[in-house]
Amino acid sequence: MSRISVVIPCFNEEEALPLYYREMCRVMGEMSGEEFELIFVDDGSSDRTLSILKEMNEADGRCRYLSFSRNFGKEAAIYAGLKNAAGDYVATMDVDMQDPPGLLPEMYRILQEENYDSVATRRSTRAGEPKIRSFLSESFYKFINRISKTEIVNGARDYRLMKRKMVDAVLGMSEYNRFSKGIFEWVGFRTKWLEFQNVGRCAGQTKWSVGKLFAYSLEGITGFSVAPLSLASVVGVCFCILSFLMILVIIVRTLIWGDPVSGWPSLVCIIFMVSGIQLFCTGIVGEYLSKTYLETKHRPIFILKDSSEEKKGDRHEAASV
Ligand code: UDP
Ligand code: MG
Repeated sequence: MSRISVVIPCFNEEEALPLYYREMCRVMGEMSGEEFELIFVDDGSSDRTLSILKEMNEADGRCRYLSFSRNFGKEAAIYAGLKNAAGDYVATMDVDMQDPPGLLPEMYRILQEENYDSVATRRSTRAGEPKIRSFLSESFYKFINRISKTEIVNGARDYRLMKRKMVDAVLGMSEYNRFSKGIFEWVGFRTKWLEFQNVGRCAGQTKWSVGKLFAYSLEGITGFSVAPLSLASVVGVCFCILSFLMILVIIVRTLIWGDPVSGWPSLVCIIFMVSGIQLFCTGIVGEYLSKTYLETKHRPIFILKDSSEEKKGDRHEAASV
């Protein structure tokens, strides 16, 4: 009998939680030979999420919860859950059923019978998603895969089941700026990809605004590629060559036709363009510098306010980061 831990980040999910729990009970019933623990991570919710989790914990010993002191983000919630998971197999899953719990038995079977360390999932379609969001996501995946050595799979969900050794490797990467899609790839191991059709949220609203998604994609780019840092040197070399050619043209032109004063508007345009490029490059350097700055502060990735573990007198273990 194996122990399976499921890590579920929850941020204002009072509507989705009961539906998710009902579905998970059905799945756990299907896999009745295995021992389960459901680790719900309340990411600083302001609705009834925490009290529902407490009720679930009272009623069903398999449900555990960790509650953050504020909203630290989904990445921090996944990290906290993995850190507190004791299972031989650990899954990460959204609570809104966009990661169908019904796939879990199949994922578990693959890890048992085939030679894989992890089973991950990706959406084969983006149906039901706003067109502009799909377009931005597609462009992001194309861009990051061009500049990063770590492959970030297009449409990959954070829904996966891993063996213990892979979980330990992921926990070994205790960086502050976390981008799980990259981290899961970076640690290596053999991963099988399952595809499924996109499903809508079962209840509640998405927690990701376009701004939050943009910040998340920057996290991915700065976390897994340093190529943008070379941009300044490449553009600099191109401009040196261009200016050299321009100097040659001007010298020859002056020798042949003399030097009538003209070209003021083009000069202003060139100054604007070059200073724009310089600021852009400085911005890129600033982006990496800010990430380095946050990383060197060694701030905890999350802070616990409450957890089901404390009641068992396990406070220290649960609070350690
Ligand atoms: N989530 C979280 N913290 C956040 C945002 C989201 O823990 O700051 C959780 C959320 O409760 C859900 C999962 O992350 O279980 C995915 O969020 P959501 O469904 O809003 O994202 P989408 O599926 O729209 O990308
Ligand atoms: Mg969702």
